[in-house]
Amino acid sequence: MHFQSTDINFAIELDAHDELASYRDEFQISDPNLIYLDGNSLGRLPKRTVEYMGDAIERGWGERLIRVWNEGWIDAPSELGAKIAKLVGAQADEILVTDSTSVNLFKLGLAALRAHPKRLKIVSDVFNFPSDLYILQGIIDLLGNKHRLELVHSTDGIIISSDAVKDAIDEDTCLVTFSHVAFKSAFMYDMAYVTELAHDAGALTLWDLSHSVGAVPVDLNGCKVDLAVGCTYKYLNGGPGSPAFLYVKRGLQDRLIPPIWGWFAAQAPFAFDLNFNPATDISRFKVGTPAMLSMKAVEPAVDLHLSAGIDRLREKSVQQSEYLIFLAEQWLLPLGFSLGSPRDPEMRGSHVSLRHPEGYRINRALIESPPPAIRVIPDFREPDNIRLGIAPIYTTYMEIHQALSRIRKVVDKKIYEMYSAQRSGVT
Ligand SMILES: *Cc1c(COP(=O)(O)O)cnc(C)c1O
Repeated sequence: MHFQSTDINFAIELDAHDELASYRDEFQISDPNLIYLDGNSLGRLPKRTVEYMGDAIERGWGERLIRVWNEGWIDAPSELGAKIAKLVGAQADEILVTDSTSVNLFKLGLAALRAHPKRLKIVSDVFNFPSDLYILQGIIDLLGNKHRLELVHSTDGIIISSDAVKDAIDEDTCLVTFSHVAFKSAFMYDMAYVTELAHDAGALTLWDLSHSVGAVPVDLNGCKVDLAVGCTYKYLNGGPGSPAFLYVKRGLQDRLIPPIWGWFAAQAPFAFDLNFNPATDISRFKVGTPAMLSMKAVEPAVDLHLSAGIDRLREKSVQQSEYLIFLAEQWLLPLGFSLGSPRDPEMRGSHVSLRHPEGYRINRALIESPPPAIRVIPDFREPDNIRLGIAPIYTTYMEIHQALSRIRKVVDKKIYEMYSAQRSGVT
């Protein structure tokens, strides 16, 4: 894809030809002067969610009370799972919406290790989300410190080579687990290839789809993936802390032993048996009563993605990221920035990292500059990455143009020097 012009009229033209443009109206945009490029951390609020939640609270909880569970709520984890399944290439009965991504990773990771008791190696990488690595370290501790976690390294901090992955997987490997799209550089694995490498060695695969779902098409069945987890509050716009999902391939569902034996994991929770008898389907990976109000907020958001179509969303995301990189090459690389993401869109998710030694202060200046300056919200990841998240369902070309132009000004005019490099709580 080639762009020739840095002129604002070109951005306007690109927006005019965007066939997904109308989806932006589905979202609450409270401040037209705020450019939000952090939909990869917390997606925007869909307008229809407000009404949907109002109904869930007033009618569902307020009027129907306990009866509401039998009026559809109890089936929400699997019904919503069936919708997410369409976005990630899974069968309807292979996905469950439940708990948090971290907790789901714990449940599936532990179950996978116990399924292969003689193999003692877990393969992951230095790009994985720290929570994923901590959870794996905790699982190893829980199982008596017999296992070891091998992290595949990167030579450039941007990609992980397939050869390095291949070298790490061997006959002692029980589990291969990566983030499909890396949270910092946006590097995206070839899921089919890595899963095949793992299977050739007899290992199970567990993919974290937190930075993929809703932005990148995933084909779990086509890639023969065993296990996966993912988040719903990023590109899927399910709301702060909305429940995550887990995927267990059909053929594994009655073979893996769930690590947490909660009553919702039992075959008949309301039989109130005194001994645990696990459900034979994916329900065995439930634990307790679902967080229904948060779960309700996920549904209208997922519906929007299904309606826009994941292939069209990906197409727009690639075009917008290419446009962003084009502007960065014209305006920002001469000012000391470097590209912290793969240049090849096939190897990149839906955000672009730009690195600069003053990244932290630049990020603060973008977020905090008082009006009339236009405000831009990206986020910052140590040590020097400014992440610009493209949420193709609502991001416009105009916003990308304005954001990059603002970054240029903040650096060119040294506006960032007015801000402290002292880190604040959530970055
Ligand atoms: C965002 C994210 C998580 C978040 O986990 P929570 O349990 O929801 O806090 C986990 N893994 C990856 C790869 C993520 O990007």
